[in-house]
Amino acid sequence: MHDSQGRIVRYLRLSLTSACSMRCVYCRPAVDASHRGDNVLKPQAIEHLVRHMVKRHGLVKVRLTGGEPTARPDLMEIIQRLAGITGLDDLAMTTNGLTLGRHAEAYRRAGLRRVNVSLDSLNATTFKRMTGVAGLDRVLAGIDAACEAGLDPIRLNTVVVTEGNADELPALVRFAASRGLEIRFIELMPMGPLAGQWAERYVSQEQMRQRLAPMVEHWQAIEQGHDSAQRYRVRLDDGRSVVVGFITPMSCNFCAQCNRLRITAVGDLYPCLMDQPRGSIVDAVHPDFDPDRFDAALDDALSLKLAEHPMAGYTQMTILGG
Ligand code: SAM
Repeated sequence: MHDSQGRIVRYLRLSLTSACSMRCVYCRPAVDASHRGDNVLKPQAIEHLVRHMVKRHGLVKVRLTGGEPTARPDLMEIIQRLAGITGLDDLAMTTNGLTLGRHAEAYRRAGLRRVNVSLDSLNATTFKRMTGVAGLDRVLAGIDAACEAGLDPIRLNTVVVTEGNADELPALVRFAASRGLEIRFIELMPMGPLAGQWAERYVSQEQMRQRLAPMVEHWQAIEQGHDSAQRYRVRLDDGRSVVVGFITPMSCNFCAQCNRLRITAVGDLYPCLMDQPRGSIVDAVHPDFDPDRFDAALDDALSLKLAEHPMAGYTQMTILGG
């Protein structure tokens, strides 16, 4: 698949629901009208559209996201269906980690390859303040379970905000190093409940690196490719080594390398995370999959994929899945 700028799109981020068990301060409003649970794409429709995109359009990677993808009661069936598609090289999921302790092994057996787990703090009080849930221990147990299950690689995602977790970056890096995991620090985007306070709460990649500088002996850049993160193999002052990434949509966008398309749980097409929806595939997948209709919707959306993302987000992240 090509977009209007000639970028090749091979990566689908598929939101399975806008529901989530957390209320992260930067992501979900306290009162949330976004959850349209009854109309979500069914497992069979998801399988058909992904199979078609792999076969006809060269799709190689799918990331399941949300909301919280583990909130879908039929998640296991969706994983199994997608894992069986020949040519789909990478099946990953982004999760808040709350249920991984119970289900990581089953996800792995169903065919999931890897997970990104959101982890904003290692301090139980800060964690609750940032996520709205007293769930730090459960998330840490979930990360352990994911490691034991053999999901690999496991990456930690941390959105960094002032008056939140900005002082915790060194502790989070040491935690990642102690588990042999990669950690990615995400710049706050002007979407969701903190959009109006974005300028005060935002921490740039440069500021994050300054906070880490006292513990770092050496930064070695890793080639970025299509990855949204600028990644470094970092040697720490305690002799350990860890991969640290920075996802920098605000200070240094990676739009020129963007190879993504997003489909929401209800079938809306988003060629850009921060743009408005550009069509829907609902009529092309229900009641039966119609490849021509699907391709027409896809073509329209990709022809409207922006060269660069707007500076303010149009939709809630919880609908799009990051
Ligand atoms: N529930 C899953 C989770 O917790 O990872 C997946 C969905 S969540 C919307 C995906 C990612 O978006 C998370 O890493 C989250 O921290 C990030 N995110 C949400 N709102 C954001 C914002 N305003 N700026 C930057 N990242 C944000």
